Amino acid sequence: MKFRKCDFMNKFYPEIYQESIYTINYEKLKKNNIKCLLFDLDNTCIPYKNNSIPGSLIELFDKLTKMNFKVIVFSNSPKKRLDKLSLNVDYNPSSRKPLRHNFKKIIKKYNYKESEVCIIGDQLLTDVLGGNLVGIHTCLIEPLTEEDMFFTKFSRKIEASIFKKLSKEKKLIKGKYYD
Ligand SMILES: [Mg+2]
Repeated sequence: MKFRKCDFMNKFYPEIYQESIYTINYEKLKKNNIKCLLFDLDNTCIPYKNNSIPGSLIELFDKLTKMNFKVIVFSNSPKKRLDKLSLNVDYNPSSRKPLRHNFKKIIKKYNYKESEVCIIGDQLLTDVLGGNLVGIHTCLIEPLTEEDMFFTKFSRKIEASIFKKLSKEKKLIKGKYYD
């Protein structure tokens, strides 16, 4: 029983941990045969409540597309919010992370193997957990702002305790980035 509990904690452990989407070693992802990048939106690409897309993000997505990555914004936000943003990439609204269903749907739709997909996001409880549950690569980044949705505020508290547990095992220490 103890072993199984410990096994579940591993589902919160991100394979990669970086400061932001701009510090990720995309060349290395390429070398590891990752072909599709699922980006969380709020607090990963843009601050929560922000509806404008910075030039740096457009540039990054362009660069990644030129590197032959399929870039998809994979967000829990509703369609009406995502439709308002001028994103230059495909997007999937109401993704209901960490549930597996939409992860599986999108992997099938774009015809990738799990090993060819990586989720990049700021939350252990949605992005990392969901990615690990479905067996794709996972990359955690620091949230852009402290401000969160109501439910996220609640989940941040749980996240803090998971962080504490993982850092006790020296697995994930705040600010100690790895790739
Ligand atoms: Mg987020």
